[in-house]
Amino acid sequence: MKCIICDSENTAKSIEHIVPESFGNKKYLMERSAICDNCNSRFSKFESKALSNSIFAVERARLAVPTKKGKNVKGKIGKFNVEGDKEFRKQHITLKGLEQKDLKNYGPERGTHQIRFESFDKSEVATSRFLLMLGIESIYTSKNEIYEKYDFSELKDYLTNKSNKDWGFITNQKNPLLFKNVTQGKMNKYLRSINCELKYNDEYETFISFQIRRCWNDN
Ligand SMILES: [Zn+2]
Repeated sequence: MKCIICDSENTAKSIEHIVPESFGNKKYLMERSAICDNCNSRFSKFESKALSNSIFAVERARLAVPTKKGKNVKGKIGKFNVEGDKEFRKQHITLKGLEQKDLKNYGPERGTHQIRFESFDKSEVATSRFLLMLGIESIYTSKNEIYEKYDFSELKDYLTNKSNKDWGFITNQKNPLLFKNVTQGKMNKYLRSINCELKYNDEYETFISFQIRRCWNDN
């Protein structure tokens, strides 16, 4: 079978999870060989960066989502080390590397501070690649007619590092109602059970946008 990203003929050994296992997904998978082992290992590099060195690390720790190996989340964002609770209690995050000057706006009535995380470092590039990968894989798997309709070569070049241009990945929602579910039926129900919705919008004919809403297990 041909890899959907790099077009190489392959007999991949590994199975690609469209939504990462670290978000609780065990069922929404790529067909074996749809993604070659080369692409898969390239993806896993930016995926683990996106999951451990971006805001996803904080959210996974906050919601006590276990890692693929069943351990508590560990991540690093800027100078902070983020760690989820070992007993998987929600809302328990350990932050190491905090200094007095990182604490802002003390609220005496609740005893709370705000902490400022560094942002827009290179982990955001990993996050952008990760979200776009999720988009193209879910479109290929669940909406193949859409995958056939568009030319995804620019996106594929971006995902295979052929192009070094950074892509933006967050936008305000202009028309939330125009987004349609990528998945259908059983898979829709399953993804909703792990708090994940994958949507697409193809109203503009020349490009397609993806929307990913909360993708982790917080039962
Ligand atoms: Zn490939």
